[in-house]
Parts: sequence; structure tokens; C-alpha cells
Amino acid sequence: MNGLAVYPGTFDPITLGHLNLIKRAALVFDHVIVCVGNNSNKKAAFTMEERVAQVKKVCSRFPNVEVDYSEKLVADYCRSKGAKILVRGLRALSDFEYECQMANFNRKMNPELDTFFLVADSKYTYLSSTAVKEMARYGADLSEFVPREIIHEIEEKIGNGGKSYAR
Ligand code: ADP
Repeated sequence: MNGLAVYPGTFDPITLGHLNLIKRAALVFDHVIVCVGNNSNKKAAFTMEERVAQVKKVCSRFPNVEVDYSEKLVADYCRSKGAKILVRGLRALSDFEYECQMANFNRKMNPELDTFFLVADSKYTYLSSTAVKEMARYGADLSEFVPREIIHEIEEKIGNGGKSYAR
């Protein structure tokens, strides 16, 4: 058993749902690498550097969690790290089809790699980075949705009518 797991995602921005998954994965696996990447289907609001800094700020509380970033295919990134476990989250049936396809694709690209799914905590099944950005645009209170350390940064970038964020 390899105790190293990689949790890849866009984290644009990291939410309390992501953080819940990281906390649970860190209890199961010896070492977890949270790997910030880009998803070609989504245009990110935050730059890679901003997202990495946010995830680092929030994950510093977990001694066995490391934060990294990659522009590579996730399967190649895992090979380069010697990781055989991917962690992903399932919120609802709508995630299932995409996540199954990605898990099979990743195993095809790297036959040593398998995906472990954690079911989202019921408190966070509705929560996505997209919903957070939408709420921020309308000046909603974000404290129940994202880690408090990054609320100000999200409000600065997306809040106030999104003056600094080109939609
Ligand atoms: P990606 O663009 O790779 O899907 P995301 O940052 O949107 O990146 O999501 C990364 C992973 O975290 C995905 O497996 C997603 O299903 C999971 N996830 C997202 N939001 C939540 C949540 N609220 N609770 C649990 N898992 C979540």
C-alpha cells in the first residue's frame, strides 16, 4: 500500500467542501499532495499563483498535506511523484459521470493509478467554486462557504460588482 495520495483540482477558489475532503483524505493517507491545476473547460478567475497561495494558506494546518501545482496531465504528474492514488470528491449524481470518465481515462494513461472517491459531506453537497464566485459577485456573506483566511481576497477580486475580475 502506497500511503501517498494526490488530490488534484482547479480550486478556483478553494471552498470549505474542498477543505473537508482534504481533512478526511489526510486522516486516511500518510501524505496528501493537493495539486492545483488548470481545467481547459473552465476559465479560472484566480491565477495559478493566487490559487496555490490560497490553498497553501488554508492547508498549513495539516502536517501531512503538501501543496503543489502542475500543468501536466494528472496521470503524468502522479507518475512523476510515484503516487498511485488519486482522491476526488462526489457531490451528486451529476459529478458521477464526469468523475468516472476521468478515473478511467487516468487509469488508461497510467495503469498504476487508481481513483478513490470521497462523498461530499451533506453540509457541502451544493457547494462549488462557481457558486462561491456567483455569491461574491453579489456581495453575499461567504463565511459559510470558504475558509475565512481567503474571504477578503475573494471579495477584493470578485466582489464590488467584480470590478477587478473580467467576466
Ligand atoms: P476540477 O476542475 O478538477 O473538477 P474542482 O476544484 O472543481 O476541480 O474540484 C476538485 C474536486 O473536488 C472534484 O473531484 C470535485 O468533485 C470535488 N469537490 C468540489 N466541490 C466539492 C464539495 N463541495 N465537496 C466535496 N468535493 C468537492
